[in-house]
Amino acid sequence: MQVKYLNDLATLVSLCKRRGFVFQSSEIYGGLNSCWDYGPLGANLKLNVKLAWYQAMTRRDDIVGLDAAILMHPTVWKASGHVDGFSDPLVDCKKCKNRFREDTAKVNGVVTCPRCGATEVTESRQFNLMFKTHMGPVEEDSNVVYLRPETAQGIFVNFENVATSMRRKIPFGIAQIGKSFRNEITPGNFTFRTREFEQMEMQFFVKPGTDEEWFETWKKVRWNFYLDMGLRENKLRFSAHGPKELAHYAKAAFDVQYEFPFGWQELEGIHNRSDFDLSQHQKFSGKKLEYFDEAAKEKYLPFVIETAVGCDRLCLAVLCDAYREEVTKDESGSEDVRVVMGFKPRFAPIKVAVLPLSKKEPLTNIGRELRDKLALDWEVDYDETASIGKRYRRQDEIGTPLCVTVDFDTVNDEAVTVRHRDKMTQDRVKISNLKAYIAEKLINF
Ligand code: ATP
Repeated sequence: MQVKYLNDLATLVSLCKRRGFVFQSSEIYGGLNSCWDYGPLGANLKLNVKLAWYQAMTRRDDIVGLDAAILMHPTVWKASGHVDGFSDPLVDCKKCKNRFREDTAKVNGVVTCPRCGATEVTESRQFNLMFKTHMGPVEEDSNVVYLRPETAQGIFVNFENVATSMRRKIPFGIAQIGKSFRNEITPGNFTFRTREFEQMEMQFFVKPGTDEEWFETWKKVRWNFYLDMGLRENKLRFSAHGPKELAHYAKAAFDVQYEFPFGWQELEGIHNRSDFDLSQHQKFSGKKLEYFDEAAKEKYLPFVIETAVGCDRLCLAVLCDAYREEVTKDESGSEDVRVVMGFKPRFAPIKVAVLPLSKKEPLTNIGRELRDKLALDWEVDYDETASIGKRYRRQDEIGTPLCVTVDFDTVNDEAVTVRHRDKMTQDRVKISNLKAYIAEKLINF
């Protein structure tokens, strides 16, 4: 058997649409550029990814959660540097009028239009990436608010609230999942770069002087998180930011990159933000944000180590990583291709499929009853149409780890056949023992 992994994004985009993972937003109106909707399976997958991240963070003794509002006081974005500095250099191609980012299209100092290949472009202009809107019924400049371009600021402005209410001592972290918005000049590559996206960010507050050590610790913790998720290690790497790439707030930065079908790209940023944010908010708000370290009897502004990953980007990586085609040839030489989404069971949108062998009673009754019982613990699909072989393939294509078949013997022996997605082995299991069997198999898949 030959195994082929994903090498073009189009194959995945088509599977995602066909099988209900991801749809183009507002498709019946011709779609809205760079916006995507998660279908029933995509929504499950995304929830599983978020849960894995949130639990990995908050089950630690030194991290708590937060859910801050998207709209914030406009001065937050002055303090954070986003009003003045959150912009990308924008150029227009003189030949085809394409508008794109200068920095990403520059190779050896020459800017090349990614659409037509021309090298004559306009002078670059700075374009602010924040979406503006108005608060209240009157559209005046004084009512301008921004859709947050990152979730981090919600954490910084709540540093004091969280530390006090939760009686936290440094070092500790705050983790948050939420939507962010950036008016990206060149969105694209499916859900990789969009204008509305979800971030999973954690800010870890430490004593100055211990920041470099914590930075190294977090690099290790985050690397292990991706391995634990089951991403292939040869598809992951670290990439250090050189001095010129460092963001205005960063003392040091590393990206975790994943090799997508369109190349190595950032999945997560790990940054040493120093005390930049807290000192800016202290200055702009006039509120003291210093921490009093009782043990050392000293006051200081904590430094911050940040880990920031895009949830949509991580889901895309999980989808790319899971896709495989198993190609077998029979004696006549004709090829058979089995498409499998090899998700680790915890990420699979459906954990178990219940498939009665016939569309008639009593098999359907038993099947329905089983579905309802199993659905109390797992996401379950029920399918009674088409041949059993076809139904197995449908489940393989959406990554369902286990298929439970109710057959004619079930009526007498009160047992079902459970088929394993990867090994394709089948076990006969008593219905009375089915839950325990499934629970064990999903853990030791
Ligand atoms: P990039 O260089 O790709 O624009 P960034 O370095 O500006 O990203 P950060 O500000 O560090 O990104 O954001 C943290 C994470 O949020 C990124 O690693 C990425 O996973 C995600 N992210 C950022 N921008 C987008 C976007 N437009 N669409 C989807 N995810 C995004």
